[in-house]
Amino acid sequence: MSNGSSRITDFIKKALFVDFIKGLAITLRYNVSRSITLRYPDQEKWVPYRRFRGQHTLNMDANGRELCVACELCAKACPTKCITVIPMEDDSGRGIADRVAKVWKVELTRCLFCGYCEDACPTRAVRLGRDYELACFDLSCATKNKEELLQPQSIPETINGGFVVKAKFVRSPEGIKVVPDLRMSKKRLL
Ligand code: SF4
Ligand code: SF4
Repeated sequence: MSNGSSRITDFIKKALFVDFIKGLAITLRYNVSRSITLRYPDQEKWVPYRRFRGQHTLNMDANGRELCVACELCAKACPTKCITVIPMEDDSGRGIADRVAKVWKVELTRCLFCGYCEDACPTRAVRLGRDYELACFDLSCATKNKEELLQPQSIPETINGGFVVKAKFVRSPEGIKVVPDLRMSKKRLL
């Protein structure tokens, strides 16, 4: 196209406010479409899909016995060496075997959330759960020990994710926590 005809086209576009109308159409389209803004963190919470890899959790069997047999495979498989497992003999029945973890801890500041540890685990003891609010004010709280990881996570494994629920305030020994209200029937997809 010659310079002359392109100038004429530009002039016609400007005269007819073509770009302005295009922009306005986009604005109007978003005005009537469903909002994707999340009122996070105090009013709404995202419940991630099952495949999400968040903070580690250590599982127990139906009888409440620790599934971890302290084999240290997770620590060996970890590319950043952020898992520490110290085994001990314990025949009190607290684990599924006599060998249990005396210490099981993970340093989340070095974790890549790659999931190699859960892939390596022969008993499905360690899983990457769906707790994703991991920010804290000092390094010590970024290291999670066995006692913390044995606590149930805010989103149980049985629940499918991929939706937003209302947040609720819960009092705990550590203070007030804002957690997803999973009883809510009103869920919205993002
Ligand atoms: S998720 Fe990856 S980096 Fe994090 S502890 Fe497991 S193996 Fe290590
Ligand atoms: S979590 Fe699994 S892989 Fe790691 S020490 Fe325990 S049993 Fe072994």
